[in-house]
Amino acid sequence: METVDTEALKHALINTSELIVDSEPELTEIDTVIGDGDHGLGMKNGFNSMKEMLELEDFDSPYDLFHACGICLIKNMGGTSGVLFGTLFIGGLNLIKNKQALSCTDIVDFFDKGYGEICRRGRAKLGDKTMIDALEPAIKGMRGIATDETNMHDLLFVGYKGALAGVENTKKMLPHQGRSKNFREKALGWPDPGAVSVSLLFKGMSEGVR
Ligand code: ADP
Ligand code: MG
Repeated sequence: METVDTEALKHALINTSELIVDSEPELTEIDTVIGDGDHGLGMKNGFNSMKEMLELEDFDSPYDLFHACGICLIKNMGGTSGVLFGTLFIGGLNLIKNKQALSCTDIVDFFDKGYGEICRRGRAKLGDKTMIDALEPAIKGMRGIATDETNMHDLLFVGYKGALAGVENTKKMLPHQGRSKNFREKALGWPDPGAVSVSLLFKGMSEGVR
């Protein structure tokens, strides 16, 4: 069975952090046009702290690893999306308790639960032009291919492709949540910055997983 252990996940998350930190200018540009401009810096601060924490500490299990990441993002990112990205790593923790390695199905269940918690806390609906418009197709794509034999890189890459399709779709949506709500038609043609961040998260994980 194809599984990932704590070390492999840590490597994937360090890669994701680097990718997100490097993408700060792109995220800032989008949030400057259709938001209050702080999304890029928030992501950069949160994922920079996460990278430093991951490089310093060792973790006994995927549970401990994801828990530390979620707390780190909530503490260091700030803003609505700090809480929501933290929730992505914390919402599904009870599903992976006592596991030393995660199967593809575990990974999909974990992010699916985190996604559900983000919807519950943020109260956004699909089509509101938020990060959940990228998360939902990412999870659906991964769910569609997750078996015991699926390669972990392939699973996360399908998540990335699903998220990218979601990002494309957000360009056609009017914003209904957060600060970009006030921009109405001006936001058409621009993707939601949080959705772009979700796609980067899966891209970084798929490229970094060993
Ligand atoms: P803020 O809105 O506090 O300035 P950021 O700029 O860091 O926070 O993040 C904006 C992103 O957060 C948006 O692009 C969107 O994807 C996401 N977001 C905002 N509100 C919600 C919500 N209620 N539910 C889901 N995602 C949301
Ligand atoms: Mg903002």
